[in-house]
Amino acid sequence: MLMRFILMAFLPSGVFGFGKTVIIGGLYEENPMVVKAFELSTRSLNEERHGNDDLPNQFVKTELVTIGNDPYDVAHDVCNLANAGIAAIFGPQDKIAARHVQTMCDTMEIPHIAARWEPQQSRGNGLVNLYPYSQTLAAIYLQLVTDYNWNTFTILYQNTENLIRMNQLLKRSDIHGHTVTIRQLPEGPDYREVLRMIKASEDPNIVLDCSIDILPEVLKQAQQVGIMSNKHSYIIASLDLQTIDLEPYQYGGTNLTGFRLVNPEDPYVTETFNRDILDWGLESPSQLTVEAALVYDGVQLFGRALKQLDDAIMADVKLSLCNNLESWEHGSSLMNFMRSTEIRGLTGLIKFDPAGYRSNFELELINLNLKGIQKIGIWNITNGIDYLPSMAALEVGEPSLRNKTFIVLIALTPPYAMLKESATMETGNDRYEGFGIDIIQEVAKKLGFNYTFVESDEVYGSKDPATGEFDGLIRKIMDGVADLAICDLTITADRQEAVDFTMPFMNLGISILFVKPRPAGSSLFAFLSPYSIEVWLYTTAAYVVVSLLLWVVGRLCPDEWTNPYPCIEEPRELENQLSLKNCFWFLAGAFMQQGSEIAPIGLSTRMVAGSWWFFCLIITQAYTANLAAFLVIESKQVLIKNVEDLATNQHGIKYGAKASGSTIDFFKASTHPTYKKMYEYMRENADEVLMGRNDLGVAKVLEGGYAFFMESSSIAYEAERKCDLDEVGSLLDSKGYGIAMKKFSPYRNALSTTILTLQETGVLKDLENKWWKQKRGGGRCEEGKATSDAKALGTGNVGGVFIVLIVGTALACIWTALELLWEISCTAINKNVSFKEEMKEELEFIVKCNRVAKPVRRRKGSSAVNLSNENGSTRDCSPPYGFVPTVITTSPEEK
Ligand code: GLU
Repeated sequence: MLMRFILMAFLPSGVFGFGKTVIIGGLYEENPMVVKAFELSTRSLNEERHGNDDLPNQFVKTELVTIGNDPYDVAHDVCNLANAGIAAIFGPQDKIAARHVQTMCDTMEIPHIAARWEPQQSRGNGLVNLYPYSQTLAAIYLQLVTDYNWNTFTILYQNTENLIRMNQLLKRSDIHGHTVTIRQLPEGPDYREVLRMIKASEDPNIVLDCSIDILPEVLKQAQQVGIMSNKHSYIIASLDLQTIDLEPYQYGGTNLTGFRLVNPEDPYVTETFNRDILDWGLESPSQLTVEAALVYDGVQLFGRALKQLDDAIMADVKLSLCNNLESWEHGSSLMNFMRSTEIRGLTGLIKFDPAGYRSNFELELINLNLKGIQKIGIWNITNGIDYLPSMAALEVGEPSLRNKTFIVLIALTPPYAMLKESATMETGNDRYEGFGIDIIQEVAKKLGFNYTFVESDEVYGSKDPATGEFDGLIRKIMDGVADLAICDLTITADRQEAVDFTMPFMNLGISILFVKPRPAGSSLFAFLSPYSIEVWLYTTAAYVVVSLLLWVVGRLCPDEWTNPYPCIEEPRELENQLSLKNCFWFLAGAFMQQGSEIAPIGLSTRMVAGSWWFFCLIITQAYTANLAAFLVIESKQVLIKNVEDLATNQHGIKYGAKASGSTIDFFKASTHPTYKKMYEYMRENADEVLMGRNDLGVAKVLEGGYAFFMESSSIAYEAERKCDLDEVGSLLDSKGYGIAMKKFSPYRNALSTTILTLQETGVLKDLENKWWKQKRGGGRCEEGKATSDAKALGTGNVGGVFIVLIVGTALACIWTALELLWEISCTAINKNVSFKEEMKEELEFIVKCNRVAKPVRRRKGSSAVNLSNENGSTRDCSPPYGFVPTVITTSPEEK
């Protein structure tokens, strides 16, 4: 390494054999790291130029001048450098000297490469400044303060120019209660007076903008005066926050946030740094100041632009001399190449917009926690600040909660927190009891912290759409009035932006609280209630269909045609008892369980009758049983069954919710037409239907004619005690209650984990049972719940009976058809006629529906009175009743 320096210092450029030497001037104050960056970057250009096509062939030589405060000296130095034939000037960092240098460079058209923060930077023709534009930084700080919801904060600045960086923050002071206090740091080295003033103002949020040289001292003195506690949050405007030793503030819980331009974990940064680690004289790349990194990048950018210039003019670059008062002919081209070149450097992507400002760069949002500086987000021009998911960086290595004392906000909403009913006068935390109180007790026991409960009103916090500000409990947490808040505080997306929540300790959703259905008045047709209307209709239809079917089957069934006069052996006609009228009567008699004088004879008609009897048996028995239940249990008049019933408002029931809370916010934000309509109704009738507190809503529901949208957990609590109340319909949404704490609280993870443990071990369930079902009148409505409702039986309950009936009658039909065919074939044989002829004759008779008497057909040629078959059946085949009536003639004398 030493050898390399000696060679570079004493050998002319030509010795290296790669073209001419290009000289660059460095004007720097006493700043070893910046000077080192300048030299190391030049050296890397020279070393890499053979293997990298992007780099110039020329050997780049540095002319370093350490400048003082006198502008005349600086002008002299610039002239000397120009006379030496420089191609660019780097530095200085001092504002006044830099302006001087820039004027001269503009005149001579020598590129001037700066790496310093300029409050009002005029981008002269000859200036390339790698430092991000001050207005961009101002906007970034404003976004951070807005994201952190700082409404009250102090800007502590070093000199007037720092205020320019803060100019956008000053605009946050407005009539909506945003207070911005501005305080200037004195000359130093004692800054305690102003720090004490901040302490006295009790402002927990501080934006500190001072140079990195005095930052460690300011922080140290802030700690000494006591404004580096876990209640204080700082935004450090310097991009070099990571370079100083922050260990003294690492464990105190102070929220220290800043941005960095150099990402020490970036592979290019680590590789570049490690290559010259000994020369840098630093332990890690995180100690690289932003100015040093920018100077390094500036030299690299110059090298690449020089190469392009070289390629463009294809000749040796002739350099200018100060005394000639001539401008350098290639100066502006070199500048333009620098502005149009893109490279990746220690400070990320180096690229310029058409106005000459650095564009497309990224800043990393960093925060101090127990593990030191951690990256918690990234800023870029497109997305603004993107916070890392779950703020994992903050969650690692949380400070212990042991022996800390937290102020816990509670709202007196049963059963989450209530005043104890005690004969003795209680003080302090002992005054309260409830579900939330017990949860804090359990969590505190596990984590070892102390707590003091502070009562708050029942405004939990909603975002004002105009100002974007929160009120109520959330506001108090944001302002640091309390550390934690527990009550029926719903976790919502809006609130989550402003504060942090633990995992939910209870899950719930919005539902309707309404009075239980009242007994319906008596009805003349109450006897119809055991069956649903469909069952009645189906039964009637079944009665008609089966009656008709029995009639048809009766006509088809040969056995149903009987001799009307059994004493006449050879009747001329047969009769059928199953006329249409009789069929209806027969089935009606069976349905009423009364029977009738008609009795089917044929197998198929008996099958129909049997099926019907079975049907009647079940239907009437079930009717009797269910009617008994209906007579015992009073039927109820249900006015609303769900949210749609309320929205259509058929019964004129008014409805509302808690005036300020997540429930009304749900309706307000909803895009669902029904909910939107309901919100409009509630808004228009706000005085009448929106309630300040849940208990007022409950009281109004009890008065009648009013339904109250409430969270299901609270409804369950009320319904457990006020037996006239009940929950109606299903949940409109699904959410949870959580413990709220300040945004980015280091305790969030520990508290969440403890809540999960309490859930898994069943402690939360036990506490819920205690406060919902046991304490303060819990379980009062249990007995009432045991009675069940009688419900009309529907087709689902008795459908099977209909099926049996259908199957039975279908079988009967099939059997009749078979019987008829058999009968016709027998008759055809007996009559000695064709089957077809007989069939035709039979069918012709059957379709004449008005005929109930059937002539007896006999064998062709046989006497009308002579029955041809032995068994004496009137229809030859199957005798009615299974026997042959015998006619016995007697005379009176024989008696
Ligand atoms: N839990 C609600 C909240 O956190 C209050 C009650 C309600 O709006 O129904 O705002």
